[in-house]
Amino acid sequence: MKFTVITLFPELIAAYTNAAMLGRAQKKHLISVATINPRDFTQDAHQTVDDKPFGGGAGMVMKIEPLYRAIKKAAPRKNKKCRVILLSASGRPFTQAVAQEFAARYTELVFVCGRYEGVDARVAEHLVDEELSVGSYVLTGGELPALTVIDAVARLIQGVLGNAESLAEESHNTDNTGEYPQYTRPEKFKTWRVPPELLSGNHAAIAAWRRKNLKKIR
Ligand code: SAM
Repeated sequence: MKFTVITLFPELIAAYTNAAMLGRAQKKHLISVATINPRDFTQDAHQTVDDKPFGGGAGMVMKIEPLYRAIKKAAPRKNKKCRVILLSASGRPFTQAVAQEFAARYTELVFVCGRYEGVDARVAEHLVDEELSVGSYVLTGGELPALTVIDAVARLIQGVLGNAESLAEESHNTDNTGEYPQYTRPEKFKTWRVPPELLSGNHAAIAAWRRKNLKKIR
């Protein structure tokens, strides 16, 4: 899976994706993460990427021309295997089901990260396949949302996680049940003990305990 992030702050993307699981997945060539800075696609001496909104109002809006050129660089032509996504607080809610849809359907995801008051609305109208929101709150930019989607999608790609079983047994999987509580050594910490059923070695008793103690998704 190829991820391309169009962002004014490529260092934010690199800091996260070059470490830990995503860093290892890149070294193994299971995923790649590239960034494109719209500032490199400006044509004026000041490298202007934002301007005041028509009609007035607070803040600045990201201009369409640098974003147009950056998106054309990332996705030069329509391709059914490539999805171009604008991160937006008012977009389609991102869920585990959407992560699974992306991992199954596409080989390339392109993210357009807004900053300031957002992006010229013609980007959503003409240049992207969809707008995606990571939650009902407003962040300062689309980089954390893009990283959230990349992380959730990447770990669904075969070979990225060390243990494939951990995908099947976790919360928000397809049957939408929660996760059961998990413990590791020591058996006793201060006065807090691991439930005895989990130490019994009795697989039926362990499975029954886990079913009974599934954490409900709120
Ligand atoms: N004026 C916008 C509004 O009222 O929704 C907020 C703009 S926000 C300060 C700047 C950028 O952050 C947005 O263009 C978007 O790319 C990103 N962003 C903020 N919150 C987000 C969320 N919950 N999901 C996805 N992207 C978000």
